[in-house]
Amino acid sequence: MLQLVGVSKSFQGVVAVQPLDLTVAEGRTTVLIGPSGCGKSTLLRLMVGLIEPDNGQVLFDGVPITRSSARQLRQRIGFVVQDGGLFPHLSARENITLLARHLGWPASRLKDRVTQLAELTHFPLDKLAFYPAQLSGGQRQRVSLMRALMLDPTLLLLDEPFAALDPLIRYELQAELREIFRQLNKTVVLVTHDLTEAGYLGDEVVLMHAGRIVQQAPYRTLLEQPAEEFVTRFIQAQRPPETI
Ligand code: ADP
Ligand code: MG
Repeated sequence: MLQLVGVSKSFQGVVAVQPLDLTVAEGRTTVLIGPSGCGKSTLLRLMVGLIEPDNGQVLFDGVPITRSSARQLRQRIGFVVQDGGLFPHLSARENITLLARHLGWPASRLKDRVTQLAELTHFPLDKLAFYPAQLSGGQRQRVSLMRALMLDPTLLLLDEPFAALDPLIRYELQAELREIFRQLNKTVVLVTHDLTEAGYLGDEVVLMHAGRIVQQAPYRTLLEQPAEEFVTRFIQAQRPPETI
């Protein structure tokens, strides 16, 4: 489904992603995890074609993502950016439907799809007319998710979707998202820096450090068969409650 081959990326001489290979399994949830600045967001932006690699290729269904193919492919890739990225001057409904309206969907189809998504994400219908500033953090994240799902993409990318939420809302949304992923059966790549979240949501965890992939494996394997010392250090740094 999604394949990165020898992909690397630097910004003004600063290496964000070292040459790496990564295959994202179809219909499963892959979680990118690692410390701040290790290249997670850069990798996600490469996957959606927002930036181009310095070397190597990103293949989507075997087709290289280039500047020219990215626009077309992006309709099949839903992307939730790190801060939600909603337009403040558009209502929730207008944010969600922006791309579909641009593609000329008729009003009835827009309405049906939004209603369907609001049900899926448990978003109150009477708040679809609200602007982002009038919504809670959890509601804004649901709007971002609906916007990403609007065109029914085959691939869904989410960059730290819970980072700005308080713990209770975060807990609730994690559970809902896991259920949504299960229902939709989509290929999902999610970025987080929270190991518990990675284990809870991911079929596969990709642990990154300083622009490279340290280990790609199911959560259990990371715990039981760490590929190198950094894996163990990273796991231990996420202090379990009973050790406090
Ligand atoms: P993460 O999402 O894991 O926190 P990022 O992918 O955002 O990490 O960043 C990886 C590295 O690349 C960091 O050192 C960051 O400062 C740098 N970087 C990312 N985007 C840019 C950019 N547009 N311009 C300059 N440096 C960048
Ligand atoms: Mg980031």
